[in-house]
Amino acid sequence: MASDGSRLGEYRSKRDFAKTAEPAGQGRLQVVQTSSAPQSFVVQRHRARRLHYDFRLQIGGVLVSWAIPRGPSMDPSVKRLAVRVEDHPVEYGSFEGVIPRGEYGAGDVIVWDRGEFSVQGEGTPEEQLVSGQLHLSLSGRKLRGSFMLIRTGKDPKGEDWLFFHKAEGGVPGWDPEDHPMSVVSARTNDQVARSDDELGELDELGSGGVWHFAGRELKLTNLDRPMFPDPKPGGTDHLTKRDLIRHYARAAQWLLPITRGRPVNLRRFPKGVTESGFWQKAVPAHTPDWVERWQNPDARKGETKTYFVASEPATLAWLANYGVIEIHPWTSTTSHPDEPTFAIFDIDPGSATTWQNLIDLARLHREALTHLGVVGFPNVSGQRGIQIRVPLQPGTTFDESRSWVETVSRVVGRVRPELVSWEWTVSERGGLARLDFTQNARNKTIVAPYSPRPAPGAPVATPIRWEELDDVNLRPDRWNIANIGERVAAVGDLLAGMDSTARPLPTVAT
Ligand code: MN
Repeated sequence: MASDGSRLGEYRSKRDFAKTAEPAGQGRLQVVQTSSAPQSFVVQRHRARRLHYDFRLQIGGVLVSWAIPRGPSMDPSVKRLAVRVEDHPVEYGSFEGVIPRGEYGAGDVIVWDRGEFSVQGEGTPEEQLVSGQLHLSLSGRKLRGSFMLIRTGKDPKGEDWLFFHKAEGGVPGWDPEDHPMSVVSARTNDQVARSDDELGELDELGSGGVWHFAGRELKLTNLDRPMFPDPKPGGTDHLTKRDLIRHYARAAQWLLPITRGRPVNLRRFPKGVTESGFWQKAVPAHTPDWVERWQNPDARKGETKTYFVASEPATLAWLANYGVIEIHPWTSTTSHPDEPTFAIFDIDPGSATTWQNLIDLARLHREALTHLGVVGFPNVSGQRGIQIRVPLQPGTTFDESRSWVETVSRVVGRVRPELVSWEWTVSERGGLARLDFTQNARNKTIVAPYSPRPAPGAPVATPIRWEELDDVNLRPDRWNIANIGERVAAVGDLLAGMDSTARPLPTVAT
């Protein structure tokens, strides 16, 4: 098969990546290697010169793509024309935003649906694609069940296909236009199109005022207050509360899939990070009514009862104005607070742990997870550590996830015992790293990917590819609120589709 680089030639030749925020695509190792394993699909609602829905299947390291002018439907009686278009890079699957006027496909794009797909019947996805008959099983948030994509006519290079639901489990009368919201940011195309203007309006506000953002009205205060000092000694290039709010407004599309439907614990630094911050869990009385909240039914006396739930972009912007720098979502959701949806490996360096030691420990985790056939999602913390998330199947308990993480961690720790301490208190660890499995418990949290950290220069916790552990330029604080947008434009949201990789936790031989 052609390398994905050459398969993306047509895609790249149509676009000027100096002008559009769409990803050029670097090609990516497939997370799951076996051809029978489910792969991701995405549908983007694209208001270009003409509205259409772009249906994309991850096959062979690229997104094989069709434009469906009238949109896909769950109604089995509806057969829709789907025009095959050029392959897109895998990174495109998390693209949501505005393609500037004058550029190819100028208009606005939302991630209208995503999930995983597999093919039914004979052959691999590649073989069915060549044969012109894809028998698809889709498990998205909107599109679910068995679908057909059939090439019309005999020309194997023909671009006209038909897309339709195969009846069982279909929904008569189902219209995609009745479901207009992005499944990642809960925004409509209109809201995405307006967000450019809204960010401009944020810049034009004085030190405070009313800001209209993502369908809400926010009262912003002290926008020019320095929050993060310049990381360069003697530098005067500090970042302000306006910069923090702008970050949360822009990062909402990557953060919300992580925070939506979960209680969040918050670290506030209302006067900036040069003063000490504090934990905030409770929702204060002055919080606007539209901000989602959750009553913890199991709160004991003296414990926080009412938590914030960060499910929409405006909530993140409101929290930033409230002085929130760090967001720590629970690993469980409000609907099942005792069931974690992912396990966490927290590689926590000690005072004597070098960056190279930390990389070595992360690589050992990678080897262990690969050996176990488990997909892990690493991120640099923005401060010193590295964390790895492993999505869990519904019904997993905290006892199960914690004991599984502990078992894997102890296997890893035995390979490099000189780097790891299992002592409880910092003073007894002798500066060694800790592999902290105890984070896998109810209401224990670690910082969300894409959350800023309270340090000069506003570093951001950032998902990485495993291969980046070999990049000599990797640092735990390499990305910050000023350059994270460029990073995600280049590599996509590396956590997109994370939930659909959940598998049963394998037994670990010790
Ligand atoms: Mn399109």
